Amino acid sequence: MLSVTEALERILKEFRPVEAEAIPLALATGRVLAENVTAGNDLPLFDNSSVDGFALIAGDPAPGSVLTVVDDIRAGDFSRTTVRNGECARIMTGAALPPGADAVIMLEDTDFNELTPGSRAPARVTLTRQVQTGENVRRRGDDLRSGEAVLQAGHRLRAQDIGLLAMLGISNVPVHRRPRLALLSSGNELLAPDQALEPGKIRDANSYVLASLAEQTGTELIRLGVAADDETDVRYRLEQAVRAQADVIVSSAGVSVGAFDYVKTVIEQGGGLEFWKVNMRPGKPLAFGLYQSIPFFGLPGNPVSAFIGFEIFVRPALEKLSGAPFRPRSTRRARLLEEVRSDGRESYLRGIAGFEHGETVVRLTGHQGSGNLLSLVQSNALLILPSGVKCVPANSEVDIWLLT
Ligand code: AMP
Ligand code: MG
Repeated sequence: MLSVTEALERILKEFRPVEAEAIPLALATGRVLAENVTAGNDLPLFDNSSVDGFALIAGDPAPGSVLTVVDDIRAGDFSRTTVRNGECARIMTGAALPPGADAVIMLEDTDFNELTPGSRAPARVTLTRQVQTGENVRRRGDDLRSGEAVLQAGHRLRAQDIGLLAMLGISNVPVHRRPRLALLSSGNELLAPDQALEPGKIRDANSYVLASLAEQTGTELIRLGVAADDETDVRYRLEQAVRAQADVIVSSAGVSVGAFDYVKTVIEQGGGLEFWKVNMRPGKPLAFGLYQSIPFFGLPGNPVSAFIGFEIFVRPALEKLSGAPFRPRSTRRARLLEEVRSDGRESYLRGIAGFEHGETVVRLTGHQGSGNLLSLVQSNALLILPSGVKCVPANSEVDIWLLT
């Protein structure tokens, strides 16, 4: 039996990052950078005031000095009036420092504390304290110098990254395109949620669970629908994935040893399928292969197993397709509130994590049957038992994954 790590390594070998494209900055949140980004300008762009006050020459005016106000500088202005000894210029936050000035005194440290919008600058102002050179000044290049590296290829762009790109004037961003994921469910028993129930039928959960997970990872979804347990129907749907140039096919059910598991047959005819028994629980049987050269995942049919199989194997593959580097999922330590038993396979159990008396604790959500999606709904964490462990006593420390 393969370990989870070995299975994942073999899977990741089949994936390469998809091509790059340039897209408008406003659409780039969540996308993965395809090139390193270097600053094309300094930040701040120019010496500017970090407060509303008066720009002056530091050091010389003692408390009680009266300065003549020679200019009034708003954010966006660029003053050419040189400030000399005995002079100052009213200045707003973010406005460029006038020539000559090397510090700013806050309004609150003067006798002029007029805060009403549109107020005129006074002719003279009295200082109530002395200022140091550079005080309340944000210097050009203090945050970032032109030419410095800021973001690396492979980085998934967050709100703050988008903001920095905007500050650097990068309006078209080189990112990897979204990977295209073709999603298939299979089984004669499956009905859509809006269809009337019939005896023996159940509602298709996996199309929804797996589509949600895929959307979270930023993929473009190609919906192949529900295939009947019928070779022609399965093949027809998989051909849609080929035609739509899917980067990966994710299917659930129909790959075990059941008499009507046709997905298996069709993949074998159109490429190759490897069955692995992975040393894990739930979701031991995992099918992986290629259909017309497209990587194919055959996840178990039970919704909880399909979810966990996606999280462990499909998500990292999608990350690699997206151009992001592989990073093992971050775990957190938690104190177990009850004894937990397993059969010795690496186990992913549904749990409820909380914070009690200054520490993270975790308990199980109840019965762990792999068709019991409700217990996954009630959980906010997966509790991980390493392989070889059959019993973990209450109060032990365990690893958990927090679920979003
Ligand atoms: P199979 O792999 O086809 O033997 O399916 C295993 C179990 O998962 C059976 O109980 C199926 O009814 C169930 N199952 C398969 N596909 C789905 C689905 N899309 N939604 C909910 N349950 C499913
Ligand atoms: Mg089936």
